[in-house]
Amino acid sequence: MANVKVAVRVRPLSKRENAEGGRIIVEVDEKVAKVRNIKVDNRLEGPWDTREKIVAFGFDFCYWSVDPEDPKYASQEVVFQDLGTSVLSGAFKGYNICLFAYGQTGSGKTYTMMGTPASIGLTPRICEGLFSREDDYSEQPASCRIEVSFLEIYNERVRDLLKQSNQKKPYTLRVREHPEAGPYVQGLSQHLITDYKQVIGLLEEGIANRITAATHVHDASSRSHAIFTIQYTQAILENNLPSEIASKINLVDLAGSERADPSYCKDRITEGANINKSLVTLGIVISTLAQNSQMFSSCQSINSITSEGDNHVSSHSPGSVSGTRRQAYIPYRDSILTWLLKDSLGGNSKTIMIATISPASSSYNETMSTLRYASNAKNIINKPRVNEDANV
Ligand code: ADP
Repeated sequence: MANVKVAVRVRPLSKRENAEGGRIIVEVDEKVAKVRNIKVDNRLEGPWDTREKIVAFGFDFCYWSVDPEDPKYASQEVVFQDLGTSVLSGAFKGYNICLFAYGQTGSGKTYTMMGTPASIGLTPRICEGLFSREDDYSEQPASCRIEVSFLEIYNERVRDLLKQSNQKKPYTLRVREHPEAGPYVQGLSQHLITDYKQVIGLLEEGIANRITAATHVHDASSRSHAIFTIQYTQAILENNLPSEIASKINLVDLAGSERADPSYCKDRITEGANINKSLVTLGIVISTLAQNSQMFSSCQSINSITSEGDNHVSSHSPGSVSGTRRQAYIPYRDSILTWLLKDSLGGNSKTIMIATISPASSSYNETMSTLRYASNAKNIINKPRVNEDANV
């Protein structure tokens, strides 16, 4: 059993936040993020005061990327060394992996996932790691194949970011479900790549396509989810018989988390804001999985488990508190994002979430809601399984 790994990253103050006075209300140490209540904070000057209301959240990793001069500053390389290498080792072993960035618009999701030319982010670093494989995780494969795709979900519709087309309606791809391979996007272009440069070319092309759409639809990139998928297949010899180990890596830059908040959208109806169904459903899926895994651990502790399925555990024992306890239904198919990531959330996959936040007092509400969402995700228990297809 592996818990979902959850990390938090705090970005530098923006120009606007600096101009407003730049009050920092977040503090992190290795595994704890603390937020000071601004209502109390307004009366305070000076250092942290433990009598005041400070809310602390525990995570697997907390990254302080506010000030490069600070000794605890977490650079792109530091984030890669923790999270990116964990993606790579999982992929080499044959797990499906999903790494997603969650946070309000402007909190650093794209910076973390993609980076800038001067400071490259997780996605290109992970691709580089696949090509310059120097691991002792498992035996080196006889050969490997890397195929990538890049899509965007906007308004519950899917668009291929790597297919240049003059279509008037680009968001027309449909999601289907294969009984064994699971959900997939019909007609999505797959690109076989043989070196790192090719991946960078495709990433740049996809990002440019995303930006073009953003100029047509006001605020589109904050409302859309981008999923870069790497299909990594290793050919190996097992007892002198050829077999394959397949791993799917989903790297997801989610829409701004304010799109999951009805109060935010109610205030901004005139600006055309709308609640993002996929983000809301992702929240429901995460909290249901978290509840189910809590139920799973409590059932385990009273030793009453009688059956166990991938996303479904039921128990019945005369000794259990309620006699029969059923796991809640997980509504993966209620949104395109959760449907596509079905196998990456609570299923046959390892999941890593990086929650990005601003350190500023003006983002207090969003920061608290992001940290609550992220700590909810920490309770999910996944049961990853190696995808090994013998004798192909
Ligand atoms: P989002 O994708 O969440 O909307 P961005 O990644 O575009 O946010 O970040 C907003 C701005 O903050 C960008 O100018 C970005 O370069 C900057 N930024 C975000 N995170 C960091 C960081 N860790 N270090 C330096 N700059 C950052």
